[in-house]
Amino acid sequence: MIADLNDALQDPFAGSNYDVCICGAGVAGITLALKLSKRLNVLLLEGGGFDYSSESQSVYQGENVGDDYVDPSIGRLRFLGGASNHWGGDCRPLDSYDFQPKAYLPDSGWPIQASDLKPYLKPAETMLELSHDDPWVEPSGPLQERLDASPSFQSINFKVSPPTRFGTRYRSELEQRSNISCYLNASVLDLQLSEDPSSLDHFRVRNYAGKEFQAKARIFVLATGGIENPRLLLNSDRQVPGGVGNQNQLVGRYFMDHLFCDPAEFIFEDAFSEYVDSNPFGDSFKGRLRQHICENQWIRDVIDDLRERDIDCLSSVRNFFSPSLELLEAERVLNFNVRMRVRTPGHGELTDGRIIMSSEQAPNPLSRIMLGDDLDQFGMRRVKLDWKVSALDIETIRRGIIRFGEAFARLELGRIKMTDWLLTDEIAARVRPVHHHMGTTRMGESPREGVVDSTQKVFGTKNLYVAGSSVFTTGGHANPTLTIVQMTLRLADHINSVV
Ligand SMILES: Cc1cc2nc3c(=O)[nH]c(=O)nc-3n(C[C@H](O)[C@H](O)[C@H](O)COP(=O)(O)OP(=O)(O)OC[C@H]3O[C@@H](n4cnc5c(N)ncnc54)[C@H](O)[C@@H]3O)c2cc1C
Repeated sequence: MIADLNDALQDPFAGSNYDVCICGAGVAGITLALKLSKRLNVLLLEGGGFDYSSESQSVYQGENVGDDYVDPSIGRLRFLGGASNHWGGDCRPLDSYDFQPKAYLPDSGWPIQASDLKPYLKPAETMLELSHDDPWVEPSGPLQERLDASPSFQSINFKVSPPTRFGTRYRSELEQRSNISCYLNASVLDLQLSEDPSSLDHFRVRNYAGKEFQAKARIFVLATGGIENPRLLLNSDRQVPGGVGNQNQLVGRYFMDHLFCDPAEFIFEDAFSEYVDSNPFGDSFKGRLRQHICENQWIRDVIDDLRERDIDCLSSVRNFFSPSLELLEAERVLNFNVRMRVRTPGHGELTDGRIIMSSEQAPNPLSRIMLGDDLDQFGMRRVKLDWKVSALDIETIRRGIIRFGEAFARLELGRIKMTDWLLTDEIAARVRPVHHHMGTTRMGESPREGVVDSTQKVFGTKNLYVAGSSVFTTGGHANPTLTIVQMTLRLADHINSVV
């Protein structure tokens, strides 16, 4: 069932024996609630309602004192379904390589491996309404074939979710499941430990009328996103100085995002261009783009409109490439992908298209979520973000694009034209984060290396778990949500086995 805590006249939690209490009904929280065993009595607490409201959203306001970051209250959404209410839907699992420790990358290496998440890939695809049939590597076309001949890059694919809006897609399942009690407008503001400080006793929960309740359970899970998970732990410092799980001052540290930028344009070799032109409806990407345009009146109208307004129009046909492990190790850089977007024919530009790059950030303890002095309406200290872009983050973009350009030329596909700012200090202003909040309650082998263990349980506690990308040890280059769902399905299996 789903109920509204604002309507509660009496304490709805009193006398209920909940097995599991989940804080946050976004991608991770809803996945976990639905995949926990039906024999478990589950309480799912969501701070917002069915839809956007400014009173809930304002809880997300904070400040950034570090490198230029998007306003943390804009990227996130605080109501049922969380940020899935406006996510893009691009999905790809992390590479096996991402889980390995790298000698040149301090704090790399997860306590789990890609193989631990593999059994959850297909079920995660189902949750995210992805095709099981689409391949993770791009089917061959002339460009793909030639680049695949290069040992340094391979063509890859992202699957695209409809995108699944978790709040609307799974609302009726939440309503119908008799073992799940989901309360909206139920904000958790504090984690209360029992007399044994390794055990969580209850969440303090408040509605917007100012009434406070206690939610007790055997197991507790924080699933409030990569910024809010550490904020809740840090704010819960009435019984433990520095906050719950923060005995080694790691909560909030290692904040990572993915970096996007447009570092180059490209021009095809004449011979390759002619080959592509002579196969206009072949499976080359230029051919596919043309087919797409010719067959679709709506796209033609949009393009005409963009042309009239002289806006550079790039294809939506996807061509992703990622570096080989050999290249990453030889260059000692972070993981990344490049995508080539072909310019609309007839725009009159000199180049054939633009290269967009998405890259990993190095785990950096100085890049972190802290608490500011300002309080929200529940009396919780607001987020103070100190986002840092490191020298290795920048070097990855530069070296990555240069190596891609070399492969492009060596294979006689064409030439890339680097932007003027790529090799200058201006690059820092050109990279943009994309709301993938990772690393702030990272998974580690021991409490000295992480906030949660390999089961996502907070070190030093017996019954507190964290779900979502805050537990990522490193970020890889793939968008995070598919991995979040895989890990949450694994967490559900774990909790089902211990409760
Ligand atoms: C514009 C945009 C585009 C994106 N595109 C992609 C993409 O293409 N591919 C991809 O993989 N990822 C993408 N993402 C990231 C994706 O949205 C997140 O990875 C995903 O939503 C994280 O899920 P989550 O459940 O961990 O957190 P959230 O979705 O943030 O959910 C957290 C939930 O907790 C609730 N909550 C918060 N605090 C409390 C509290 N104190 N008490 C009770 N409830 C609380 C919130 O209301 C929310 O419902 C995008 C994000 C944005 C912003």
